[in-house]
Amino acid sequence: MRITQGAGTPTAPAAPGARVGSVGDAAQRREELKAVWEQASTCMRCPQLAATRQTVVFGAGNADADLMFVGEAPGAREDESGLPFVGQAGRLLDQLLEEIGLARADVFIANTLMCRPPGNRDPLPQEIDNCQDYLFRKLELIRPKVVCSLGNFATKLLRGDPTGITRLHGREEIRTLGPRTLRLYPIFHPAAALYTPRMLETLREDFSRLPELLALDPPPQPEPADAEPAVPEPELAAVAADDGDPAAAPADEGQLGLF
Ligand code: URA
Repeated sequence: MRITQGAGTPTAPAAPGARVGSVGDAAQRREELKAVWEQASTCMRCPQLAATRQTVVFGAGNADADLMFVGEAPGAREDESGLPFVGQAGRLLDQLLEEIGLARADVFIANTLMCRPPGNRDPLPQEIDNCQDYLFRKLELIRPKVVCSLGNFATKLLRGDPTGITRLHGREEIRTLGPRTLRLYPIFHPAAALYTPRMLETLREDFSRLPELLALDPPPQPEPADAEPAVPEPELAAVAADDGDPAAAPADEGQLGLF
């Protein structure tokens, strides 16, 4: 797994369709995010996931959000709807956001993996690796100041360290994740807090610090990696599910409507 990079100059992500240095103003970044989403919607990097998924859950929300959440992987409901966190855990997330004066449309919600692992098994290292470029590209284009990792899985992955969420929750740290330096703020996964009142209380307390973290100046960004004209388009383009079939294109709704 290669998610975390330490401080210093990050390497450019071999992001799908990425053009290094082409991320300008918010409107342009949004357009680029839409293009990445379109590519992702037919991704075949993980053949097993591609064969069993109904939808690629790219992530949804504000394409210029200061706050981004990263969960683990889509579940059955997310796979059906194409949107992240649509079940009970998602409703709790919405409620906690509302309590600090934010709505889902103010933030961006993504996962370490965009496709549902069959039977909700844990994502495999190769699958996480395959999806990492997309996550880095989202960070590069959205430019969040604060990234909340939700629960153990995403926290361990983004920190590249096995320390668990119980020790880390509610403590922000400056981290460089791929192309961006940001405040990483691990918190409990809302699904874990659903049935444990004490954990919910802790989650709520950790949420209450978010406005203060968002008000801080963003950390300085690393030097851009050596400019390359374009990252070669990977196998994605060649394996689009139904080449030339308009029905294969993602509908302009759901994720896109929220960008
Ligand atoms: N749990 C996650 O980690 N992500 C989702 O999108 C839904 C549930």
